[in-house]
Amino acid sequence: MDVIVVGGGPAGRALVRACADAGLSTTLVDPHPDRRWTATYGAWADELPAGTPVLATATDVRAVALREHRIDRHYAVLDNLRLHELPGSVTVVAGKAVRTAHGPHGSTVALADGTRLAASVVVNAGGAPPRRRCAEQTAFGTVVSAEDARAVVGPGEAVLMDWRQPPHAEQRWPTFLYAIPLGDDRVLLEETSLARRPGLPLRELQLRLRSRLAALGVRPTSAHELVRFPVDVPRPRSVAFGAAAALVHPATGYSVATSLRLAPEVAAAVVDALPRGGEAVRAAIRDVVWSPSAKLVHLCRRRGLEALLAFPPERVPEFFDSFFRMPAHLQRAYLSGRDDVTGVYAAMGALFLDSSWGMRRRLVLPVPSPR
Ligand SMILES: Cc1cc2nc3c(=O)[nH]c(=O)nc-3n(C[C@H](O)[C@H](O)[C@H](O)COP(=O)(O)OP(=O)(O)OC[C@H]3O[C@@H](n4cnc5c(N)ncnc54)[C@H](O)[C@@H]3O)c2cc1C
Repeated sequence: MDVIVVGGGPAGRALVRACADAGLSTTLVDPHPDRRWTATYGAWADELPAGTPVLATATDVRAVALREHRIDRHYAVLDNLRLHELPGSVTVVAGKAVRTAHGPHGSTVALADGTRLAASVVVNAGGAPPRRRCAEQTAFGTVVSAEDARAVVGPGEAVLMDWRQPPHAEQRWPTFLYAIPLGDDRVLLEETSLARRPGLPLRELQLRLRSRLAALGVRPTSAHELVRFPVDVPRPRSVAFGAAAALVHPATGYSVATSLRLAPEVAAAVVDALPRGGEAVRAAIRDVVWSPSAKLVHLCRRRGLEALLAFPPERVPEFFDSFFRMPAHLQRAYLSGRDDVTGVYAAMGALFLDSSWGMRRRLVLPVPSPR
């Protein structure tokens, strides 16, 4: 076996597909390989590799902070069923990996049932590792008909974030409404806490969503989505991919588009390094996933996350107003891509210059504010 991928989430499956397409013999290990993903995965359409299956694309995307901003990008919701599919050549093993060992020529993975599998390389795509005190994105969403969502979004529209606060909240932490079309005449309306350490409780988000929607005359349904995942995942030492490899964008929480884009690059690096043995393959994967510029960009974004976490809650919409006032190419540099060090620095500089003195101090010296 050339490659074993542990974890069959969007990242693991993208890598398995790419490896199989590159002619590598590939195995996927997951405790529940047939389980459907229930999360709604969205991404900027321009971040997705050509041919990515999508359910719906919004062509009119807005953000509301102190005022409304139009964002000149399309936003897509991924087709989970099609992203879940694998080529017939892939071996799928139902099991939980408990230990991985690496040698100069290859790696082995031990499963909970005692099975041992060997390959030139074992890649961990098992999702973000559980940690204490992590910064988390949390959200509570409801799915309503497009007709019922009309007060928020019309056909082809999406609201990336609406920072106007709902009438009722029990905590000061600011949240926003995220509204995206799912295709099939359905719309997801989600009250979201971008990042908080620890994550804002889901109960608080549910209460806010109800209060916000009641004010808009929209009735939530029983179809709901619960979101909770860490955004400050540390870079691992092991050979990893997806959220396990800290591919989660610290400012947005997104990782799926990055995993989809990187998967063929990782597969190509494996093909190239395979004749040189397991150690070379592991090094090649690490180099693709974390190039020096990607590390620098990630560091800047982690710094941005800490600044945001330390912001006085009532000033967060002001911060996003500055953000969406920036030229589109700087917004894009900060939100998308992993290698544009100059662009990310330029975006941070522009944001700093556009900010009030009070905000500038917070951006440079993040001091946690009392909640
Ligand atoms: C509800 C929700 C909505 C989200 N929305 C978006 C979004 O719109 N856009 C976006 O980019 N991101 C989104 N995210 C964040 C993030 O991108 C997702 O968490 C994404 O699922 C990460 O993909 P992954 O494949 O790296 O890891 P995961 O999806 O966590 O998959 C990990 C897989 O590994 C398996 N596994 C774990 N441990 C083992 C083991 N020991 N042995 C074998 N298998 C194992 C798990 O069973 C799972 O199948 C969302 C997250 C949630 C929870």
